Amino acid sequence: MNVEDLCRGCTAIVAEKPRAAAKIAKALSGGRARRILYNGIPIWLFTIDGENYVVIPSAGHLFSIDSNKKGIPVFEYTWVPRHHAEKSYKHLEKFYRVFSELLPRAREYINACDYDIEGSVIGYMIIKRWGNVSKMKRMKFSSLVDDELRRSFRSLMPPDMDMVEAGLARHEMDWIWGINVSRALMLLFRRIFGEHRILSAGRVQTPTLFEVVRNTIERDTYVPSPLYGVSIYVEINGREYRLEGAGEPFRRKSDAEEYLEKVKALGYAIVFDIEERVLQYDPPYPFNLGDLQKEAYRIYRISPAKALEILEDLYLDSLISYPRTNSQKLPQGVNHGEIIERIGGIQRYRGAVLKILSRRRLIPNNGPMDDPAHPAIYPTGEIPRRLGDLHAKIYDLIVRRYLATFAESLIVYGVTSHIDVAGRRYLLRGVRIRYKGWLDIYPFHRIDEKPIPQLRVGERLKISKARVVLSLTRPEPPYNKASLLRWMESQSIGTEATRAEIIETLYKRGYIKGSRATELGIMVCSAIDRYFKDLSRVELTRHFEELLDKIRRGELRREHVIRRTIEVVGEAIERFLKNIDSTKPGDIDLPGVKKGGCPICGGPRDPGDKHGFCHLHGLAHRRIIEKYREWSENNYSWDKYLEKIYGLKITGSKIKEVIGYIRKEDRAQDHQK
Ligand SMILES: [Zn+2]
Repeated sequence: MNVEDLCRGCTAIVAEKPRAAAKIAKALSGGRARRILYNGIPIWLFTIDGENYVVIPSAGHLFSIDSNKKGIPVFEYTWVPRHHAEKSYKHLEKFYRVFSELLPRAREYINACDYDIEGSVIGYMIIKRWGNVSKMKRMKFSSLVDDELRRSFRSLMPPDMDMVEAGLARHEMDWIWGINVSRALMLLFRRIFGEHRILSAGRVQTPTLFEVVRNTIERDTYVPSPLYGVSIYVEINGREYRLEGAGEPFRRKSDAEEYLEKVKALGYAIVFDIEERVLQYDPPYPFNLGDLQKEAYRIYRISPAKALEILEDLYLDSLISYPRTNSQKLPQGVNHGEIIERIGGIQRYRGAVLKILSRRRLIPNNGPMDDPAHPAIYPTGEIPRRLGDLHAKIYDLIVRRYLATFAESLIVYGVTSHIDVAGRRYLLRGVRIRYKGWLDIYPFHRIDEKPIPQLRVGERLKISKARVVLSLTRPEPPYNKASLLRWMESQSIGTEATRAEIIETLYKRGYIKGSRATELGIMVCSAIDRYFKDLSRVELTRHFEELLDKIRRGELRREHVIRRTIEVVGEAIERFLKNIDSTKPGDIDLPGVKKGGCPICGGPRDPGDKHGFCHLHGLAHRRIIEKYREWSENNYSWDKYLEKIYGLKITGSKIKEVIGYIRKEDRAQDHQK
């Protein structure tokens, strides 16, 4: 019989990707499925109890949103074949054709795409287009291991319409927001520069960019403050120890010097309290996606997007469970003893495995975070054959984290001596690891052990050295891809599945480079801030995130959320159009627009700045003047102050530009005299 006949009256199983389809077909057929290339796409045919089955893979989303309406506002859209709407998806046409040939012949349908919102949408759209959604069932699984796939096939679930609706709503909402604001931006930039530029904005992307711009400006206009500490060394049994200052440092150098004199005159310090502590650190929680991405970056500098790509591979190889999860809890229905034993078959983990299996009971240290669809990420116990360098690193991280969560606590013994030196408090800390516990298995944290001297309360310690040291306040750290991801999590914007990709988009558009916002990024933000202030607030993004969650829980309808999106975006676009109609092209001033003004960068003058600087140089100039007071109190003349901060690495780049300008002006004036 030919393929078309075999598919007549069969059950069609839709998989998200070819590799997943292969695993599913193999598991359900017990390895007896027949693989056929149909119009260039692999499909699998098999029979169970006289019933015919066909597994057909997709390649992610086959449909996307498009509109043939030009201009703004635009709220009319349809779901169309993705390869019609986006040129880079031409390869999807083949998959589209296979579904269109075979799906109408089937009698029943199973959506076996990944069990999450996107998978629900991918399978639903395909079955809706060529099949019958009232004959659709859902397969729920968290890993591509044979047993689990078979189990989920035996207990098929009803269609997951709430997840489908939430997914469709997210796509539609993001499309409405994105296309309207992006087109508005392009319109604006055409007015300013007279040229066409591809610019983009997004519901989650834009508030994230705002945060990076804020951080960049903060660092660029940073002037450190001077602080003075007195560093003190004591001698105990012929060994020198440095005391740790416990009080606030001095703001004035003269105060620090006065105190230093007292310390020198006294010559000793007194131990007034000794605190002994035994600290118990419980094992780390099982990994959710965000935690894993952060660790991959912290330990190996692997970007969140790259980590997700690797995880996807490991999942499709059945080595790990489904990675797009928010949960820090391991599943209960899985035999962890068996998985751990199988991992013990890998030489490098044998020692750890033996130690864990010797424990009376296996209890993971589950964390508080949860996910309705999937458990925390865990190794399936299948042994990897050959992994590339990065894949091996990520796999190792997952195995170690998994084993560690079953291990014993880390016990650290610490002694803190509280020491008085001429009326100020200092500390002397000693730290020793008593029992390594899980740290032996997951050795990616460092505990700095420090010697613990034997001291008594009331003991006098001889001061061997003391001197005043200048320390400086520091700016907030710059963002990297991992800390930006953490920020998005902390603000509850985006989802674990989308955050890494949104960050990559900001880099690809040239809005962020390295760890800072680019001039283009700053310009786009100030344009959005000026014309779409309300739309770009984190609170609004988070609010819509909550609405999506309500759809997912079946408490709200998609139409309601889309109507609300259209209202909010519609009002903003209306205001924008009115606004730019009443301004002449020459009046639009944004950072980066060079139309002569600011004497440093040629950018538009800030009307509130009396020196004629642009917004950023004006801000930098004001900060230089503000901070001078603190330095002048420490006998820095204006010139000496400028020279000092100009030479510091942590001083912001805009500050240095302003200092360069001030010095040049001064020299010019000297000439005139
Ligand atoms: Zn400027």
